[in-house]
Amino acid sequence: MADIKKLRGNLEMRGFATSCFATAEEAARYLDGRLDGTSIGIGGSITAQQLGLDQLLPSHNSVYWHWLGGSSGQAAAADVYISSVNGIAETGELVNIDGTGNRVASTIYGHKSLYLIVGVNKIAPTFEKALWRARNIAAPKNAQRLGRKTPCAAKGDRCYDCESPDRICRALTVLWARPTAIEYAEVVIVEQELGL
Ligand code: SF4
Repeated sequence: MADIKKLRGNLEMRGFATSCFATAEEAARYLDGRLDGTSIGIGGSITAQQLGLDQLLPSHNSVYWHWLGGSSGQAAAADVYISSVNGIAETGELVNIDGTGNRVASTIYGHKSLYLIVGVNKIAPTFEKALWRARNIAAPKNAQRLGRKTPCAAKGDRCYDCESPDRICRALTVLWARPTAIEYAEVVIVEQELGL
């Protein structure tokens, strides 16, 4: 079982605010209350979709999410950015893999505030295990979801470090601490399984 107390302590030492909720509904209500009258970009996040943020936030914010028809350029220019992570270590490192690059870029630079929503299934005890999870669990599942012609999507068991033109793993980021150009970054932990 994930040590959420340890995770929160390490994230806070690294400059991230943290919050923790028992359910996705509570986390969604919290974010809906916190984000009002602002511009928000959202990365291709199943977690954000599972929270229903596509239903909640647009009524009182300008939301740019390519799943809602917003362009990645609009999302990149928003004041706030919301994403999940592909793996997070109890020691505090946050791991993300991307194909296009817009999602990982937005977790590093270009927004005043960043919210990263994390289900318990994303938490690993060490950085090495969080990296392993991002590469061998999250990425193959995302390749399957996107219908990519890659060995991981065909077999669904692990990463093959493929050289396929359909490869989705083209950039890997590790947030060691809150990047200084982002004024406020918060990790919203949900004690449920969310995302891939
Ligand atoms: S590198 Fe290729 S095989 Fe590995 S997870 Fe990414 S798409 Fe799949």
